[in-house]
Amino acid sequence: MRNKVELLAPAGDLEKLKIAIIYGANAVYIGGKKFSLRARASNFTIENIREACAFAKEHGAKIYVTMNIIPHDEDLDGLEDYLLELEKAQVTGIIVSSLYIAKVAQIVAPKLECHLSTQASVTNSLAIKEYEKLGFTRVVLARETSLEQIKKIKEKVNAELEVFIHGGLCVSYSGRCMLSNHLTNRDANRGGCAHSCRWNYDLYDRDNKINPEGFYFNIGSKDLVGIRHLFSLLDIGVASLKIEGRMKSLYYIATVVRCYKQLIDKYYEYVDNSVDLKGIDLEYFYKEIGKAENRLMSIGFFDGAPTCNEQLYNIRSETPTKEFIGIVLDYDEKTNIATIEQRNYFELNDKVEFFGPTLENTETTITELYDENFTPIEVARHPLQILKIKVPFELKKYDMIRKI
Ligand code: SF4
Repeated sequence: MRNKVELLAPAGDLEKLKIAIIYGANAVYIGGKKFSLRARASNFTIENIREACAFAKEHGAKIYVTMNIIPHDEDLDGLEDYLLELEKAQVTGIIVSSLYIAKVAQIVAPKLECHLSTQASVTNSLAIKEYEKLGFTRVVLARETSLEQIKKIKEKVNAELEVFIHGGLCVSYSGRCMLSNHLTNRDANRGGCAHSCRWNYDLYDRDNKINPEGFYFNIGSKDLVGIRHLFSLLDIGVASLKIEGRMKSLYYIATVVRCYKQLIDKYYEYVDNSVDLKGIDLEYFYKEIGKAENRLMSIGFFDGAPTCNEQLYNIRSETPTKEFIGIVLDYDEKTNIATIEQRNYFELNDKVEFFGPTLENTETTITELYDENFTPIEVARHPLQILKIKVPFELKKYDMIRKI
C-alpha cells in the first residue's frame, strides 16, 4: 500500500478549519494563543483547539499546533501546562523551531509528534539527520529548496518531509529579517511581521531619487503556486504538502484546498491506472486558483534560484477573477430553496457559480431572492444576512457561491 500524501491547510479560526477539512485537507495547522507566529491571526484558545480536534477526528483529519516562535525567556512561561493541554486535546503534533520547546514536549507530552518548523531553515539532509536524533519525526523544509534538492534529501533521510506547495514566500529564509522589526517595531520571529518587504519603496542614489515617478520598488516576492511541480513532489514521496496562509479568508482556503485535493486525487487515479499525467489540464487549476488569489503567482525555488520573474515590481496584488458572495447553510430539495449566509453584495438576476467539495462548478442566475422571512428582496447588501434563493440543483451545507 502506498502512503498517500497529506494535504495540510492553514486555519485562523474554527470556521476556516472546518471549511479546510470539508474541502479536502487531511490535516490543518493552527496557532494557539501562545508560542505561535502569526500573532495577528485569530489564534485558537484551548477550548477552540479541543473543538478543532474533535471535528478533525470525526472527519479522519489531524490537527497540528504551531509553536514556532523564537522564544525569549519571558515567552516560555506556562510551556509545560500548555503542552499537556494540547496532548489532552488529542492534537497530533506541534510545529516548533526551538530545540528547548521540542525537548520539553518530548518529556512532558510524548504523544505529541514533533515537527521541525520551516523557521529552522533546513535545506540539507545532514541537518535533518541531526534533528532526527533529537526526536523530530517530520521536517518542514525551507522554501529555499529546489525539486532536485528535495529529491536528494528524501533519498537520505528517515524523517517525513513537509514541503510548501502554495502561498506567501518570505525573501529572508522565513523570518530571518529585521525589516519589520526596524520599520515597525514588530518582530517577525515572534509573530509580528508587518510584511514590510511588500511595501512600495523609492530608490535613491545619495540624494537623487532614481525611480521614475509612480514606479516603486518592492523587495518582496510573488506568492508560490506549486501546481506545475505537484506531480514531481508526489513522485519524490514527500509526506505532506503545505498551504500557507493562516490569515487568509474562508473562500481562499476552500478554493485552494479544493484545487490541490482534486489535483492530488487525479494524480493517484492516473498513476494507478497507468495513464499519462500529461492528460491533466493544469491550466484549469491555475484559473480556479485565480478565482480567489489576489497575489501575483510564482514557482518559488522549485526550479532552482528564482529569477526576476519571481520578484514583485511595482504591482503588489491582483484582483481575484470571481467575487465570493455567500455560503450555503441548507438546501430544501422539495422547494429547491437554498438558505445562504451573505458575504458580499449581490442582486437579483446576477449570474453566479456554485462550487463545493463534491459539487462541480455550476452556473445559474439568481431569479428569486428572499430575506430570512421569505419577503422578496432585490439586493443582498448586508454582510452575514441570512437569505433564501431558488437554485435548480441540489446543494449541500458549506457549498459556496461566487459572482461571475
Ligand atoms: S518583512 Fe518580508 S522578508 Fe522580512 S520577515 Fe516579513 S515577509 Fe519575510
